[in-house]
Amino acid sequence: MQFSDLGLSPDVLSAVADKGYAKPTPIQEQAIPVVLMGRDVLGCAQTGTGKTASFVLPMLDILSAGRARARMPRSLILEPTRELATQVAQSFEEYGKNVKLSMALLIGGESFTDQEKALERGVDVLIATPGRLLDLFERGRIILADTKILVIDEADRMLDMGFIPDVERIVSLLPKIRQTLFFSATMPPEIRRLADAFLSNPKEITVAPPASPAETVTQGLVVVEADRKRDTLRRLIRHEDVKNAIIFCNRKRDVDILWKSLKRHGFDAVALHGDMPQSARTETLAKFKAGEARLLVASDVAARGLDIQGLSHVFNFDVPIHAEDYVHRIGRTGRAGRPGRAFTIAAPEDGRFVQAIEQLIQKTIPRIELEGVEQAELVFEERRRRRGGRKEAQRGEGKPRAERKEHREAVPESAPTQTEAARPKRRERRQERPAESPVRMENVDIDNVRRLPVRPSQRHEDEPDDGRVVGFGDHTPAFLVRPVRVAGGRG
Ligand code: AMP
Repeated sequence: MQFSDLGLSPDVLSAVADKGYAKPTPIQEQAIPVVLMGRDVLGCAQTGTGKTASFVLPMLDILSAGRARARMPRSLILEPTRELATQVAQSFEEYGKNVKLSMALLIGGESFTDQEKALERGVDVLIATPGRLLDLFERGRIILADTKILVIDEADRMLDMGFIPDVERIVSLLPKIRQTLFFSATMPPEIRRLADAFLSNPKEITVAPPASPAETVTQGLVVVEADRKRDTLRRLIRHEDVKNAIIFCNRKRDVDILWKSLKRHGFDAVALHGDMPQSARTETLAKFKAGEARLLVASDVAARGLDIQGLSHVFNFDVPIHAEDYVHRIGRTGRAGRPGRAFTIAAPEDGRFVQAIEQLIQKTIPRIELEGVEQAELVFEERRRRRGGRKEAQRGEGKPRAERKEHREAVPESAPTQTEAARPKRRERRQERPAESPVRMENVDIDNVRRLPVRPSQRHEDEPDDGRVVGFGDHTPAFLVRPVRVAGGRG
């Protein structure tokens, strides 16, 4: 199928042609004709599938008939983060360059005055994060009674971030007769409930299993003691041919700590997390996108859905607590059919989180070993807690997801880590492994990184245990034998 078969206008088709897209992606192929017909859509699609164009392109054509009135936006796109909202606004400008439509971007951290002025002039498309939209509504700056198209993007992330009450409030302010396009990467029951409440006889479109990482991403996992993670990351970065990479941390505080550590070690890194002022977030992202910095250390919230062209690597400095975040993180690379590489650094205590990820993606992440890095083993025992055996309650387990997330961002990095004395000896840990080990070696080619020598307990039935380590042959790259200078303790 071609773009010209979808019913889009010549103006929009010409902008698409300028973008150089050869063919519509599956979500575009299925959603565009349905949106043009005025029907509701429930799209189960992750970022990287071309879903933004699947709603932006038909909206341009629908909205080009008609005119905006002051303070009464004709359509509303809700995004969970400022970065995503900004990205969608950029897409609107690019795809809509031949169409005369006005747009306003309402995001926190930017001046109210400019946003109010834009609203005053009347907008066809309003792109907003829920909090800022409600602020402006409460100031009487927006009337939503004329908003005939609503897009809720990344609904599962809205849920994670605790925005659902805001979204429900916003939807209650919109006209009952409207067209609603609802997108989510995953469809947990809570999201299903919302979709049922907001949509009317929607066309359901699922373009990829919600939890399938891009086929083009080569994955690897290295297990080390928690205090060796930074050193391991540096070695991985030096090992790999990193053009540009996002390094994910679970908590905002760790983003800063890791960023400073990388800078201290001479890496060209910038940091992005939700506590930074918006101007700094925008500047950082622009720098990284422009290739002025090679490494972006980020939290999930800040990096969700970011579309960075040709990202070569993703590193998970922490194993994500929610398995689905793993899929989102590694999906930042390997986009649009290009190859990408994603490496996860796990501490022994992360065993059950790794297990959950592997269950979700239905695949074992190949274990790798780096020269000079002492390998540890995952612990799967239920009661053991990551990061120094904190109590269940401290991690917020058992709370709703949104609260859990807040909690995890709030726990300070300086919280005591497990002491050597408290940590079980390696031999004891090995005995804690379940009889049926989840670790299987996979025959993937991970250049420059040594394959983990297969231990009898982990070995795939068909693999010989000759103890041989493959990767560099007889050659040991110079940087691996060079002593690593340790700054301020353990780096
Ligand atoms: P999205 O899933 O909307 O974040 O889009 C992911 C990336 O795919 C963006 O960089 C788009 O520019 C790109 N893209 C969107 N549609 C197409 C298409 N039909 N062909 C090639 N790339 C596309």
